[in-house]
Amino acid sequence: MNVLLVYAHPEPKSLNGSLKNFSVKHLEDAGHVVQVSDLYAMKWKASLDADDSTDRHANARFDPSLDSRRAFEHGLQSKDIALEQDKLRWADAVILQFPLWWFSMPAILKGWVERVYAYGFAYGIGEHSDARWGDRYGEGTLAGKRAMLIVTTGGWESHYSARGINGPIDDVLFPIHHGVLYYPGFDVLPPFVVYRTGRTDDARFAKIRDALGQRLDDLWKTAPIPFRPQNSGAYNIPELTLRPDVAPDLTGFAAHTA
Ligand code: FAD
Repeated sequence: MNVLLVYAHPEPKSLNGSLKNFSVKHLEDAGHVVQVSDLYAMKWKASLDADDSTDRHANARFDPSLDSRRAFEHGLQSKDIALEQDKLRWADAVILQFPLWWFSMPAILKGWVERVYAYGFAYGIGEHSDARWGDRYGEGTLAGKRAMLIVTTGGWESHYSARGINGPIDDVLFPIHHGVLYYPGFDVLPPFVVYRTGRTDDARFAKIRDALGQRLDDLWKTAPIPFRPQNSGAYNIPELTLRPDVAPDLTGFAAHTA
């Protein structure tokens, strides 16, 4: 299988760097083909702006969505964007690996999402009618592929538990799982989270490595998070609210998981 690892940490000798090197070797030893987008090493441009089209007109008003669509449809995207889209098309599974920074992904990775997920590639596709609201949330360009996060946190596991001060980890990661990954069609696997990274010595690192190796071995076996598909009847269209009889006692993020 083809695996794309999109990796965001500025220091190769970091814990994340060690885990990334371990993952690549482990997957390759198992016979998979791996490509790594090491965003800091690539000096990835994080800001979405008018320079993302190769035919930028200096005086034209820049529209982030419409310019993205025009560049995508007419082959006018900057080369770094098109190359990452090719990697996504090539991949059977995509792993995003990053340290949790301010309860989300580092800015460089957010910028990768903003720029690579072009209009016409990751959003703005499919029929919009009374029965369908585009190819998204379970459908879309990346449908049939698997995605998983590898995340490290300074906070303890209890800080991210159901009543923990930081909010449950599933809630913290929901915008990435549901918004960034499920939206363009990925089957999203439960994340691999390393908590309380400050307390990592050689013995703990060995345990983390073993657990990560198991998750990588199970990449094609692990059941995805059962998010509800948008166009399969659970949601009223075009309001896009859950039908009253679906999970009637639930609100918020939890309601969108079957
Ligand atoms: P490192 O600092 O590189 O390493 C962590 C520990 O692992 C060190 O003790 C190191 O010696 C050890 N180690 C590294 N490699 C190995 C190895 N090969 N073998 C054995 N031991 C090893 N945390 C939160 O919980 N929530 C937040 O919102 C949050 N926001 C942050 C925002 C910013 C801007 C920053 C800088 C940090 C934030 N943190 C937050 C903490 C952050 O998530 C952790 O610092 C990060 O996950 C640690 O990962 P690292 O790869 O940088 O670890």
